[in-house]
Formats: sequence, C-alpha cells, structure tokens
Amino acid sequence: MLSSWIELSASALQSNVATYKRVLEGKSKFAAVVKSNAYGHGLLEIAKLSLEAGADYLGVNSIEEAVALRSEFPKAVILIMGDIPLLVQRKEILANENFWIIVSRLEQIETLASLHPRPKIHLKIDTGMARLGTGIQALSSLAKTLAEKKLPLDGVATHFASTEDFTEHSYSHNQLVLFKEAISILESHGFQNLQRHASSSASALLFPEARFDFVRVGISLYGLWPSLETKLSLSQMGRQVGMLQPVLQWKTQVQHLQSLQTGQFVGYGSTFKTTYPTKLAVVPVGYFEGLDRKLSNNGYMLMKGERVRILGRICMNMTMLDVTHIPDVAIGDEVVIFGESGNEKVTPDDHATWTNTINYEVVTRISSVFPRIIRE
Ligand SMILES: *Cc1c(COP(=O)(O)O)cnc(C)c1O
Repeated sequence: MLSSWIELSASALQSNVATYKRVLEGKSKFAAVVKSNAYGHGLLEIAKLSLEAGADYLGVNSIEEAVALRSEFPKAVILIMGDIPLLVQRKEILANENFWIIVSRLEQIETLASLHPRPKIHLKIDTGMARLGTGIQALSSLAKTLAEKKLPLDGVATHFASTEDFTEHSYSHNQLVLFKEAISILESHGFQNLQRHASSSASALLFPEARFDFVRVGISLYGLWPSLETKLSLSQMGRQVGMLQPVLQWKTQVQHLQSLQTGQFVGYGSTFKTTYPTKLAVVPVGYFEGLDRKLSNNGYMLMKGERVRILGRICMNMTMLDVTHIPDVAIGDEVVIFGESGNEKVTPDDHATWTNTINYEVVTRISSVFPRIIRE
C-alpha cells in the first residue's frame, strides 16, 4: 500500500502550454518555470512533460535544480533566476552555453564572463520589486563599466511585484516603463539584441506589451490561476477565462478504521468531540507530507464521490476523517486530497482559502518523498 502519490495529467499540461502559446501568437517564447520541485509537482517529470509539450526553456531558482536538470536534459536551455551563493567556488559547473543566468551585480558578470564555454548572462533590473536586480539609478554607471571592461551581456530581465494582487495595474505599468527605460540605457552603451523578459503567469496573460522575447510561466503551467484578481482582470478585458487545466491530483488510501461512540474525542489536544456514532478513517498523510496544520478541523477530502471532513488536528504523518456516511468503507479505499471524485472536487485554491494563504504555497509544500505518476 502506498501512503500517498501524485498523479500528473500530461494532457492537462500540454493544454496549458498550448493555451499560452496561443496567447503569445508565436511572437514570444515560453519558459516553463519548474523551480521548487516544479511547484511540488515533481521536477524531472514536469520538465520532461513541458519540453515534450513545446516549452522553449526551463526556469529554475537554484544551481542545484539546474544541475539536476542538466544531467537529464543535456541540451535544454535552463534559466537560473535566483542569486547563486558561493558563485566563485562553483562557477565551473556553469560553463555551458545553455545555462542562462540572471545576475544583479558586476562581480557576478566578471565571474561568469571568465568561463569557457560561457553561459549567457542576463542582467536583472529592479523596477519596483525591491528584491534582486540593480536599480535604474545605478544602471548607467554599471553599463558604462561593462562597456569599458568589454564584459558581455546577453539578456535583461525584470519581475513584476503585484500584478496578481490587483485589478488596477498602474504599479505594473510603471514597472514596465522603467524596464523599457533600462533597455534603452543598455542599448545606448552598445548592448544590442538582448533577450528581454519580464512576465510571469499573470503579466504574460494580461499585458501583451510585457511579453518581450519570452515569458516565464510557473503557476499557470500547472493549471492554477495566479489569483482571483488575475481572472477578474482578464474577464474585465473581455477575454476568455476558465482555460487552465489542473495538472496534479494527490491521492492516498485508508490506512485504518475505527468506530467511535457519541462523545469521544479525536486526536491531539482533544479538539474534536463526536456528536453521533462516528465511523473514522485514518489516512497516512500529515504535515510532514505537506498538509497545512491549519486544516485541523477545517477542510475535507473526497471518498467515493463524497466529501469527508477532517476531524481533530492534522498529525505529523496522519489525518483522521469522518466517513460515517460512506457505505462499505474498507482499508485500502482511495481518498482524494486534491482532485475529483464523482461530482466533487478539492483544489489547492480551496486549501489556500481554508488556511489563509495562496495556491503557490499549498502546492510547493507537498513533500517530494512520494511517487509522481504520469497519466496519459
Ligand atoms: C517564480 C518566478 C516566476 C514564475 O511566476 P508565476 O507567477 O508562478 O508564473 C517568474 N519569474 C521569476 C523571477 C520567478 O521567481
């Protein structure tokens, strides 16, 4: 018996890539963002499916993720988006033309420029996120230094801070204006034909003028909306919504059954007390496996087309469910954590609502310890 497993729909992922390719009209390329174990879905599995579905590039956060992908996909373009700690000590790993590396500082450019073969160097511009990148004020002097030292630059990037959070997009538009200004500054110092990229899932859908040479799509690759505001913004623009297909289902099996009388307590802290004779099922999934503990007494899973309520606290490796209303429950019966059963479904967005967070956090916290199974 498996404790739990992830089922990945190849056709859903293909459909999501195709949706973006349609939106991009062949004018911009598509980078599939597979950082953080492909948002909990499984790094190597999703990278393979994405490339097969026509993704042009793969995007990751760390050098470790890039190295794991490189051994499986020797030719793929891999964009590293996070700042690389101890770059000087580890630079030799990056001597490969198909690593595209986003940097923020002069010394990183000097380090990467010394490699043979040389990876592509993309300069990050901070246009309002205040995370990585160089600010627009410092850019002219940096560009001047790069030109004087004959250092190379292959791309220029920025990242929007709050497209997902609003239906009013003036902050993003200001960032776009600054980004275009940054591109002109670099061009005026002789850096032409740079690969320009700015948009993640939401901005790629909402702002045609922010798509540039390629877009970096994470959450929507997996069939999830960046936010309700993104959906609303699109519909306000008269554009079609409901076009993304969830890639992941997370399933488990009943591990143990108990019959409780009225008035019995369930779980740590005795936070739940039965009010009727209760059939209780235990499933082998808890907060270690990636369920948020805030789902304690707060949420449900699915069995045989019905909702089954979470009773008591989520434990480290187990969760208790009320299956009183499910006929003929047996050990080994399938339980759906994310996905569909009959006419019912539970989504990462439901968990996000129940636990006051975003679907990004819900899926990335799914543990990597159990198998990813590709369907279709
Ligand atoms: C994670 C990330 C993305 C992808 O964002 P989504 O909202 O998941 O599409 C794009 N660009 C950068 C720099 C990122 O860190």
